[in-house]
Amino acid sequence: MKIHLRHIHADGLHLEGEEECLIPDLTTEGVTCNGPLRYALDLGISEGSLWATGSLAQPVELRCVRCLESFPFDIEAKAFSIHVDLTGPELIDLTPYLREDILLNLPAHPHCDREGGRVCPAASQPESSHATDGTERRQPDWSALDKLKLK
Ligand SMILES: [Zn+2]
Repeated sequence: MKIHLRHIHADGLHLEGEEECLIPDLTTEGVTCNGPLRYALDLGISEGSLWATGSLAQPVELRCVRCLESFPFDIEAKAFSIHVDLTGPELIDLTPYLREDILLNLPAHPHCDREGGRVCPAASQPESSHATDGTERRQPDWSALDKLKLK
C-alpha cells in the first residue's frame, strides 16, 4: 500500500478499505488468507515524519496444532501505529509495516477451541499421560513466558 505524501494534507488523511492479503507466503506454515486485509488508518505529517495509526483485520484459515483441522480466524491489529522519518522519496510504502503488525498478532500455536471458539475434536481424546478433562488446554504456552519472567 503506497501513500503519496502529497495526498496527506495538513489536517491528515483517513484511509479505509481493503487490500490484497499481505501474507500469501505463509500458506506453507498453515496460515491461508481467507479474504482481503481490511484497514482503517489515520495518517499525518509532522516535523519531517509520517505517522499512522489505526486498525487492521486479516481473515485467515489457521491450522489447529492439536486436531490439525483448519478453522477461520481474524488476525486483528487494533493498535497499529508507526512513525517514519521522511528522508527521501515522496512515495511511502506502508506494506512492510502492515505486514509486520499482522505477523505480530498471528497466534503462534493456534488452537481451534481457544482462537476459533469451537470444540476441538482432539481435546476429548486422551493424550499420553494427560487426563481427559482438558487440563492441557488450561496450561498452554505461558510456561515459556513464566520462565522468562523469573530470570
Ligand atoms: Zn483443534
